[in-house]
Amino acid sequence: KTELLRVEHLKKYFNTPFGVLHAVDDVSFTVMKGETLGIVGESGCGKSTLGRAILRLHEPTSGKVLFEGEDILAYDKKKMKAMRRDMQIIFQDPFASLNPRMTVSETIYEALLIQKLYSPRDKEGLRKRALELMDMVGLAPRLVNTYPHELDGGRRQRIGIARVLALDPKMIVCDEPVSALDVSIQAQILNLMQDLQDRMGFTYLFITHDLSVVKHLSDDILVMYLGQMVEKAPAGKLFEKP
Ligand code: ADP
Ligand code: ADP
Repeated sequence: KTELLRVEHLKKYFNTPFGVLHAVDDVSFTVMKGETLGIVGESGCGKSTLGRAILRLHEPTSGKVLFEGEDILAYDKKKMKAMRRDMQIIFQDPFASLNPRMTVSETIYEALLIQKLYSPRDKEGLRKRALELMDMVGLAPRLVNTYPHELDGGRRQRIGIARVLALDPKMIVCDEPVSALDVSIQAQILNLMQDLQDRMGFTYLFITHDLSVVKHLSDDILVMYLGQMVEKAPAGKLFEKP
């Protein structure tokens, strides 16, 4: 097993009208390639901020983020942009992150074009890749020209996953990816994510307030409380009877 991510003494403080908020307060952990780290804790404990700080969507206040041994906090904008491909995020509400004016295929094309994986003139290549990605996430080819509002929450989340897959990342931060979905659809999306991990070797940081969601999915589980890590243990161990 090789280490993919090492987080050392990571802090993210926010200046608020009420003073400095220690949203993430000295968190350290490592994640191995191909594994899932569940990040759990009640609402407001800093899970989302931690996930975003690791991706530098929120600039960390201090600490280290080593990805494949490299200190990405030292990367300049250009290097970080290239790095983005390797570290993707899936949000709770795909509606909020999908462009309502873009069809399923256009959403996928955009991802492929932004990272210059295809030339805009290669219409045939783009179309073929989009259909391939749709197939990987269980979206029927007939949905290729539909818009997000025409689809249910589960299918919208599948588009979000397809867009992330298009970039062939190494690590995916999953920020409450099933929390906005009907319970009946949650299991389908979780199964899809597990299946994709088995096939593609993704490493997941899986953020959720719902322990039952990550219980079966995680290798290790990190428990947060008020910005701090209060426990980190193998999932099996956390659920052992005393
Ligand atoms: P969780 O994901 O566990 O629900 P968050 O990471 O969203 O928790 O939030 C942790 C704390 O940081 C909360 O008190 C939240 O209000 C605060 N917070 C999050 N983002 C910001 C921000 N951009 N500015 C100020 N405070 C923030
Ligand atoms: P950073 O500079 O670390 O990247 P952001 O740019 O993400 O931080 O923060 C943008 C702004 O969003 C914050 O300054 C804050 O005013 C606002 N904000 C976002 N989420 C929250 C929250 N939960 N509570 C208070 N303010 C928030």
